[in-house]
Amino acid sequence: MKSVIVLLGPPGSGKGTQGEKLSEELGYTRLSTGDMLREAVRNGTELGMKAKSYMDSGALVPNDLIIGLMKEKIAQAKGGVILDGFPRTVEQADALAQQLDVDLALNLDVDDDELINRLTKRRSCPQCNAVYHLIYNPPKAEGVCDKCGGALYQRDDDKEETVMNRLKVYRENTMPLIDYYEKKGTLVTIKGVGSIDDIFKQVEKAVQ
Ligand SMILES: [Zn+2]
Repeated sequence: MKSVIVLLGPPGSGKGTQGEKLSEELGYTRLSTGDMLREAVRNGTELGMKAKSYMDSGALVPNDLIIGLMKEKIAQAKGGVILDGFPRTVEQADALAQQLDVDLALNLDVDDDELINRLTKRRSCPQCNAVYHLIYNPPKAEGVCDKCGGALYQRDDDKEETVMNRLKVYRENTMPLIDYYEKKGTLVTIKGVGSIDDIFKQVEKAVQ
């Protein structure tokens, strides 16, 4: 099995869901950059204290430091790992390649029209944070939360204009990354449409 995996995919592609399944069904450890940094700071490790000084001054945490944290986590992991949220740029991918071999870059590809449809039809409950989807997971009564009766609303993040902007930012940053891993020969692109299980079958094939 491939041991270090980078997951790529736009917001709404189902990347989070597939990452969860890889971890639950195949024992992969998910390494989220944000979680990792917060944990290191909380534990007061040497790298954590260094990271904190950057975060406190509002500066970006340097790539080498993030990669250092990743290496510590990978050494502790029992099986393979999935890198979540890193690298986001070619510069970060280069820094990573100097210290670590990425075995597979898995790219979940979904058309913009489909992503907009998925993301703009989300409705949230302000009281209990439950999330619904007007087509895939509608509430029993229109506009009302099943769990607590709260009035559902559309988060600003899920409004069409914001969604289109999020996708644009994603494409600009990530397209070069897709080319980068394609040239390295480690890219596998999977169409992120169909049932979660059907997509996961292809994911499983790619990691073997
Ligand atoms: Zn609710």
